[in-house]
Amino acid sequence: MCGSSFQDCAGNTESLLRATKPTVGSLVLDVLDIEYHETIMAAAGHQAEKSLYDVVKNYKGKYIAVVEGSIPVKDGGVYCCIGGKSGIDIVKEVCSNAMVTIAAGTCAAYGGLPAAAPNPTGAIGVKDAVPGITVVNLPACPMNVENLTATVVHFLTFGTLPPLDNLGRPLFAYGKRIHDNCERRAHFDAGQFVRQWGDEGHRQGWCLYEMGCKGPETFQNCPRIRWNEGVNWPVGAGHGCVGCSEPAFWDKMTPFYKRLPKVPGFGVEKTADKVGAGLAAVTGAAIVAHGIGRVISGGRKEKEEE
Ligand code: SF4
Repeated sequence: MCGSSFQDCAGNTESLLRATKPTVGSLVLDVLDIEYHETIMAAAGHQAEKSLYDVVKNYKGKYIAVVEGSIPVKDGGVYCCIGGKSGIDIVKEVCSNAMVTIAAGTCAAYGGLPAAAPNPTGAIGVKDAVPGITVVNLPACPMNVENLTATVVHFLTFGTLPPLDNLGRPLFAYGKRIHDNCERRAHFDAGQFVRQWGDEGHRQGWCLYEMGCKGPETFQNCPRIRWNEGVNWPVGAGHGCVGCSEPAFWDKMTPFYKRLPKVPGFGVEKTADKVGAGLAAVTGAAIVAHGIGRVISGGRKEKEEE
C-alpha cells in the first residue's frame, strides 16, 4: 500500500492518525504493509522517492494506492511538483500500475478546495487525472478514517470492492443522507429551527437548517459513526453540515451559513416550512434519485432498514 499527497491540507492524514478500529499503530505495524506515505514514513528526500518507485516496479498491479489532494494540470502541472516530477505525472505512473486506487478526501475525489472557482491551478480529482483506472472515492473534508479502514478491510476480506454509488463512493458509507440519520431530525419535522446562533433553539438542540445546514443535500454516515472514537460530529456539536462529501461543495454549498434557496437536487427547501408527511414523500424521492441499491457490507441493520 502506498499513499501520495498532492494539493491538500493533509487533513486526511490527520484523520488517518486518529484511526481507532483498528488503531493507526495496528494498521501500520500489523495489518498493512505501507511502503510509502510522505507524512509518516521515516525516509526523506531521495530515499523516500525510491520507496515509492520501488513499489511501482516490484508490486505492479498488486498494491493499493491511496491519493490525498487534488492534481493540478494547468500549465503542464507545474503547481505541484515532488522530487522533480509533476503531480499529474506521479499519479499517472503510480495509479495506473495499482490494483486499485482510493481517493481519500474531497480534493482527491473531485478537486476540492483547490478546484473551487476560479480554479487557478486547473485542479482535478484522481479519476479525471487517470481515466480508466479503478478508483474508490472517499470524499469529505477530511475523509472519516473509519470509512478508509472499512473499505480496505472489505477489499482484503472479500477480494472485491464494496458496492459504489454513481459518484464512486461506497454505499455503506455514502448510501444515506445525513438528514435522514440526524439526531436533530425530529426538530426539523416539528418545525423547530435555530434562527440565531446561541438562541433558545440552539441551546435546546433544534434543527440547524435555517442556519445553513446542508444535511438534506449531503450523503455520508457522519451521524452514525461520528468522529474521534464516536464522541461527536459537527451537527451534534451545534454547527450545520457544510456538505463536504458532495462534488464542488465549496462552490455549490456556499455561503455555508445561509439556507440555500436553489441547491440543485432535492427540492427540500420548498418543503422546509411544510413539515411532517409531505416531507417524508420528498425524502423518499430523494433516496430513489440517489440510486441506492443494496448494501452488501453495511451489515444486517442496513439490510433490515432497506
Ligand atoms: S437540516 Fe441539518 S440539523 Fe436539521 S435535521 Fe437535517 S441534517 Fe439535521
